[in-house]
Amino acid sequence: MPRGTCKLCHKDAELQLSHLIGRAVYKLCRKDQGDDSIVMTTKVVMKTSRQIRDYVLCAKCEDRFNKGGERYATSLVSRLRKGFPLLDKLRLALPMQGGPDYHVFSGERVGVDTDKLAYYALSVVWRSGIHHWKSVENQTTSVVLATTEEEAIRKYLLGETALPGNIGVMVNVCTDLASQALVLTPTSRAFPPSGLIYKLLVRGIDFWVLLSSSPNIQFVEMCCVRSPAKKIFLRDCSQLTLNAVKHFYEGSKWARNARLGGAGRKPGNSRKVGER
Ligand SMILES: [Zn+2]
Repeated sequence: MPRGTCKLCHKDAELQLSHLIGRAVYKLCRKDQGDDSIVMTTKVVMKTSRQIRDYVLCAKCEDRFNKGGERYATSLVSRLRKGFPLLDKLRLALPMQGGPDYHVFSGERVGVDTDKLAYYALSVVWRSGIHHWKSVENQTTSVVLATTEEEAIRKYLLGETALPGNIGVMVNVCTDLASQALVLTPTSRAFPPSGLIYKLLVRGIDFWVLLSSSPNIQFVEMCCVRSPAKKIFLRDCSQLTLNAVKHFYEGSKWARNARLGGAGRKPGNSRKVGER
C-alpha cells in the first residue's frame, strides 16, 4: 500500500483502497444479485466490479467511516427480493404526519439511528468532493465543495464538531422498486434561494444533503439529525429517480456491459464507451 497524507486526519500513513460509496454496498449488490450492480455517475453508466475506489484514507479513518455510519446504513438498504429492513420498520409504525404523496415518521420512535445515516451520507458527499475519483474512462465524480464546507464537514466526520449549522440531511425511504435497485452517486441541484442539494441514492434510501450559505430553518425542519423527532420521510421516489436517471442518461456514456437489450448503445446516441 502506498504511503501518503490521509485526506481525513491529515496524518502521514499507509493509505487504504477506499471506496466512494462504501465497499459494503457493492458487496451487498453482488451477493444479492449474483452479479455486479449498475452504477451511475454523471459521466458513465457501468456494470462493474471495478468500483470507484482509490488510495485516499488511512486504516483508522476507513474504520471510522465504517463504524460511523457505513455499516449501519448498509444494514438498512434494500436487498430486493430478500427485503428492505428500513422500509419494513416504517411499515410497522404509525406516521407522525402525512401528505398526499408522503408520510413522515419519527426516527427516534421507530428506533432508527438517524445520526449514523446522516454521517454516512455526508461521508460519501465529502469523499466525492475531496478527491478526483476515477470511475471508468478517466471520468470523475461531480461534487464541488467550497474549501470552508470541505473543512467543516471534515471536522464533523472526525468527531470534532456537531453537524455544521448550514448543513442538513434528509432521509427518504423509497417505496418504488426502481429506486430500491439502483445506486446513484451524488448529483447536485439548486435549493432556492441560496441552497444546494446533493442527492445520493443507495438501494432505496434517497439521501439529500442540503448545503446553504447560512443556517436555514427549512433544513432544520427536514433534517434527520436536527428536527426534534429526527424525521424520516416515506414516499414513492420513482419520479425523482427517473429524473435523476434521465440526467445521468443524457450526460453519460454507457459502458458496453450496461447495455439494454444487447444493443451496446443507448438509443439516440451512437457513441459507445471507448469511442470518440
Ligand atoms: Zn486518517
